[in-house]
Amino acid sequence: MADNQNPQDEQSFEHLIFDWNNPSMTTRPARQAREEAQKVSEENRVKREEIHQSTIEERKAELLRQRREKTQNTSRLSGTAGGRRNVRRPAAAKTRTVRKKTGGNGWLKSLVPAGGIPRTWLIRGGAGMAAVLVLIIVIWGLTHMGGGARRRAPQIDKSLPSYIYEDYLSVNPWSRPGISADAITGIVIHYTASPGTEAEQMRDYFESLGEGSGTRASSHFVIGTDGKILICVPLGEVAYASNSRNMDTISIEYCHSDESGALSEECYRSLVKLTKWLLDRYSLSAEDVIRHYDILGKVCPKYFVDHPEDWEKFLSDVEKEPVSDGT
Ligand SMILES: [Zn+2]
Repeated sequence: MADNQNPQDEQSFEHLIFDWNNPSMTTRPARQAREEAQKVSEENRVKREEIHQSTIEERKAELLRQRREKTQNTSRLSGTAGGRRNVRRPAAAKTRTVRKKTGGNGWLKSLVPAGGIPRTWLIRGGAGMAAVLVLIIVIWGLTHMGGGARRRAPQIDKSLPSYIYEDYLSVNPWSRPGISADAITGIVIHYTASPGTEAEQMRDYFESLGEGSGTRASSHFVIGTDGKILICVPLGEVAYASNSRNMDTISIEYCHSDESGALSEECYRSLVKLTKWLLDRYSLSAEDVIRHYDILGKVCPKYFVDHPEDWEKFLSDVEKEPVSDGT
């Protein structure tokens, strides 16, 4: 406070105020004051440096001491002299180390942040994996069930009479090439040449050729010994049955129970009915019905090759047969 200021003190400091306009300031007292101030300043600087240095030294010493203590503690803990608790601790530490070591390769470890994988990562990762799994299952289901459905579901050709069962082959290069047929100009009759083989088995045999057997064979229709009529290749597509006439004919193969190739009564009736319906559908006549034998001399169908009179009777039965669109 100004009131309590000692005028003497005020005066004793006066000489320290340097004023270039006052010539007396260049006098001895002023110089002396500057030198004193510089001296004090230098002393203070040295003192600060010493303090700073000693602080660093002290800090270093402290750290060394702490480190030494730590090392001593660790060696004491891992020693055998410790109590029960002291023995267990290093064991636990060892287990942790081992777990870390077996926890994965170096690169994998580098992906894992220090302190382990955060819980949120685990939750997100789990949810993501579950989503991917569901997607895979859905895609698998769609492709496989869809495929199964394509293979087995009846492909409805509403133009077919109800007595024809549709069980089409999968499209493949060996039995159902999926090629459009030319205009149909004839019906070709075959036999299976495999006594005892039924219509469904024949159809499955054609299907199996699609796996790449190297054999090309099929037929639009197969008639069982029980008279059941199966269609394997859709009308309008080519079947591999009649060699040079594959493109413009419809093939019918019938099943038989013995080597003679003779037809059962049911099979014969179905063959007549189907042939008649096809002639009507394609505006053909009985003259357009031929044996496989008529194309290249192959003994097929054996019974009608061996018994030409029965072949003629068959053609006449077809002519007499009324067209049947129903059962
Ligand atoms: Zn044939």
